[in-house]
Amino acid sequence: MQTKLYINGEWVAPVEGGTLPVIDPATEEVFHHIPAATAPDAEIAVAAAREAFDNGPWPRLTGAERAKYLRAIAQGIRDRLPELAHIETRDNGKPLPESEWDLSDAAGCFDFYADLAEELDGEVEEVKLADDRFASKAVREPLGVAVAIVPWNYPLLMASWKVAPALAAGCTMILKPAETTSLTALELGAIAEAAGLPKGVLNILSGKGSVVGQALVEHPQVDKVAFTGSGPVGSRIMATGAKDVKRISLELGGKSPFVVFADSDIEKAVEWIMFGIFWNQGQVCSATSRVLVEAPLYPRLLERLVEEAGKIRIGNGLDEGTLLGPLVNKSQYEDVLRHIDRAVEQGATVACGGRHNGFDKGFWVAPTVLTDTALDSDAWVEEIFGPVVCIRPFDTEDEAIRLANDSRFGLAAAVMSADEARCERVARAFRAGIVWINCSQPTFTEAPWGGYKQSGIGRELGRWGLDNYLETKQITSFVSEEPWGWYLK
Ligand code: NAD
Repeated sequence: MQTKLYINGEWVAPVEGGTLPVIDPATEEVFHHIPAATAPDAEIAVAAAREAFDNGPWPRLTGAERAKYLRAIAQGIRDRLPELAHIETRDNGKPLPESEWDLSDAAGCFDFYADLAEELDGEVEEVKLADDRFASKAVREPLGVAVAIVPWNYPLLMASWKVAPALAAGCTMILKPAETTSLTALELGAIAEAAGLPKGVLNILSGKGSVVGQALVEHPQVDKVAFTGSGPVGSRIMATGAKDVKRISLELGGKSPFVVFADSDIEKAVEWIMFGIFWNQGQVCSATSRVLVEAPLYPRLLERLVEEAGKIRIGNGLDEGTLLGPLVNKSQYEDVLRHIDRAVEQGATVACGGRHNGFDKGFWVAPTVLTDTALDSDAWVEEIFGPVVCIRPFDTEDEAIRLANDSRFGLAAAVMSADEARCERVARAFRAGIVWINCSQPTFTEAPWGGYKQSGIGRELGRWGLDNYLETKQITSFVSEEPWGWYLK
């Protein structure tokens, strides 16, 4: 495991020498220390990325040449997948098969953007003008030095969603992983180095968001900040970046609804509701944490959900058969428990779950189902970011849509029904950037990802993810033999 920062193709100690402990959330054991970068490291990394962009080969390579490096990184992740998955689970707590899944997706993301890098070559769009004395075309070019700031819930995967398209576009980048889960992001530096990535193209600074993250966002030589994380930090980044008109893309939180109609298969509904909120311990921005069930199905569905939630195997993510690991750290754990206590104070009933006392150490919360949550209660309105679902009945389709959309967030939404036309109608009525029909959460590198309303700005993944790192330039030529005729009549 790395102990240094990756800057300008070298492994260096932080200028001010700080470190942060790495704590296994299942055992509370400190098993490593990561370097804690501060403002002087940000300064050096931005200078390296700037130099690599302004004078280095990277943005001038063809897309096909850049694609080779991206594919080598994808292969590098695959070659080390078991080891990286083990590290991810110890760092984050998630069950090992989920870490393997994430890392395989991360590798796939580099391959996907390698293909798009190749497609950029020779991409020229003729622009038809009303005036035939001119010919015009539009070309797309890398936008410069980008900073990626990512959260702890999918450590290497969230990093890959930004690093892969940025490199494919020809940008250079500084990656700032979350201070709680930086291990695999630092390993990405070793993988990029082994892939022969030119120096300065990718720089990786672990450290506190309020220190090194803030320094990167404030830096005038940074052209773009791509951020995934909480709403308050996203809003602050936008305000800071506005000073020098940085390009900003934000992937923020959610409180996503799942509308289940009475004609649904009850077992399928239970399975997808559980996957929608308990997967990754519910620490998923798009988790469907508000479930609305058509009244005739509600009592039986609630009963089955509580039965099945109680069977979920809780344990160390490294143990075989674990489906729900610990929450990522102490503060997240305390936060989720506070949310559950507050829900009860505000009149909710805990149908199952809450604090899990089965282990001496670690940050455990059992799969929790809350009923009777008032529409204005915190549990119904605020993102909890843990394995906690609120469930309530509804009577009509209109009511379900109104309740589903009654949120300041608009990241995701799901609908389940045997009636295809109704699913389509409700899908279109949701004010959310990601909609699932008859499922919840499956995520594909090819499809756009991002939120309406306060869930963010811009889209990641797919071709939309590449757009985040490109500028569009028009090149217009005067092709007429006639004089322009302004001065010389
Ligand atoms: P967070 O906002 O606390 O931290 C995210 C990142 O921002 C971390 O790397 C952190 O170090 C950094 N940071 C903190 N303060 C900063 C500052 N002042 N300047 C610059 N960087 C700073 O969020 P978190 O707790 O790590 O993640 C949970 C949140 O992320 C949830 O709200 C969740 O919904 C959201 N999320 C969204 C998506 C999505 O795709 N929309 C995906 C995953 C997580």
